[in-house]
Amino acid sequence: MKAPSTHFHMPSTAMSIAETIYCYHCGRSHPRVEMRQIATKGGKKWRCIKSIEATKRNVTQRDAFGKTVTTINKSENQARIKARQNAERLLAAG
Ligand SMILES: [Zn+2]
Repeated sequence: MKAPSTHFHMPSTAMSIAETIYCYHCGRSHPRVEMRQIATKGGKKWRCIKSIEATKRNVTQRDAFGKTVTTINKSENQARIKARQNAERLLAAG
């Protein structure tokens, strides 16, 4: 008895649409069109565009945030130093 082979045949177009690639960042597969191959220390890996863009945005925001915090810290420190110097001067005078 010969099994019909038509049941196992898939058109190549359907295969390419359904094709997914494992995303090392998310730990799951995404459609091929949403994936980008990137070079890492461990070799070439596939990562989705969404996660790449999200990381880029986060880095930019973190940089901007970090600069703001640094500026605030500096001015706070200077104010604190001045206040301490004034207090010491008063103590020395008194
Ligand atoms: Zn992903």
